[in-house]
Amino acid sequence: MLDTVLAALQEGALRRQGPLPAGGPEAVAARVRRALGTALPEQGIGAHPALHSLVTAVAEGAADPADPLCAAHLHCPPLAVATAADLAASALNPSMDSWDQAPAASALEALVTRALAAEVHPAADALVTTGATEANQLAVLLARELRPGPVQVVCGANAHHSLHRAAWLLGQPPPLTVPTPDGTLRPEALGAALAGLDGHPNLLAAATAGTTDAGLIDPLDALADTAARHGARLHIDAAYGGALLFSARHRGLLTGLDRAHTTALDLHKLGWQPVAAGLFTSRDPSELAALDHRADYLNADDDTEAGLPDILGRSLRTTRRPDILKIAVTLRALGREGLGALTDHVCAQARELARLVAAHPRFTLCAEPALSTVLFRPTGIEDRTLAAVRRDLLGAGHAVLGRARHGGRLWLKATLLNPHTQPGDLAALLKLVEGNLP
Ligand SMILES: *Cc1c(COP(=O)(O)O)cnc(C)c1O
Repeated sequence: MLDTVLAALQEGALRRQGPLPAGGPEAVAARVRRALGTALPEQGIGAHPALHSLVTAVAEGAADPADPLCAAHLHCPPLAVATAADLAASALNPSMDSWDQAPAASALEALVTRALAAEVHPAADALVTTGATEANQLAVLLARELRPGPVQVVCGANAHHSLHRAAWLLGQPPPLTVPTPDGTLRPEALGAALAGLDGHPNLLAAATAGTTDAGLIDPLDALADTAARHGARLHIDAAYGGALLFSARHRGLLTGLDRAHTTALDLHKLGWQPVAAGLFTSRDPSELAALDHRADYLNADDDTEAGLPDILGRSLRTTRRPDILKIAVTLRALGREGLGALTDHVCAQARELARLVAAHPRFTLCAEPALSTVLFRPTGIEDRTLAAVRRDLLGAGHAVLGRARHGGRLWLKATLLNPHTQPGDLAALLKLVEGNLP
């Protein structure tokens, strides 16, 4: 079956011939309909034909992050070693809600989450999440549980939308959004917003280390001072930038991360893990007790007293995949140096793309990249023309670029997460955009 899958992946990629299938949503959906036939046939067609037809169709119709011209989102090409480890996770199928479903996997998770959390703060522990959406939710939930009254989140306009959803989902007031005209949350602006809420018993300031749109890092250390001065808890969403911790060269950009009460990190962005590989760190692990929960069939008191680890409180989920296995294998296989080198490499690619854009007569660079995101636009065109150029590239299947609003204008966004990308690929990307200009 593995041979069938590998052959289908290759065949699909050959048929696609590019970062994205050509023809747009209707053409893709029609091919998927043909490959699927009846979704639930009365009699099965057998493993090999089912694997072959559907894996080929999904591969043919994939936005392939392993293609250097697929550079829109925080959507990384997964490491082969992590993908292989994830196969073992599927085969063994431990479930991380009770020790008797995951004896070794839960022990591994305890060790590796501690080690990763210690990169943020020596005393911290981490929970495994589906991503920063869940981690941001946990940050708001812990604030709600640990301090009196409703939580008032105060964040920058550059913060991720999931913080707003978290407040909504948890029945808390909408976050107070501080304008971020230069793309980062300024300490004076946060300070003014917090001063306006003086005396509020439950303030949660949220900063971002690696904004989704521009890859910018808020001034974490100064924001930590500001939050502390106003008695606010501090959450830092380092979904994108957290992996800079592995890089000797770039780690300093995260100075102040250790001062956050809680953080979010996504190793399915920088980190090159198959989805999902999120972490939520807490500087004071005793606070995680707020998530404790009892279900007699999973963590009966007498089982816990007799020494069976109680792991149900390490997530809001019940049945849960051992996402830690692929992470642990990756950390051991590549080491800090290997992961740091990959991170440094994509950051260098971003600087190279910025250089190419700045030197190009028909393009404008938004700003020097802080991480691996480059915002640029063809000089002198309307926003709606720019949006159409991006859609044309998607429709033809030639390139996958993102879009971002910054300084009142629309920009093309290249998020570089592929360590195999060569300078020639970056030049080709610009040439494709140029070739589609009116
Ligand atoms: C990607 C991202 C998120 C959402 O994370 P998921 O892993 O998609 O749940 C939150 N915050 C930031 C800054 C992000 O870049």
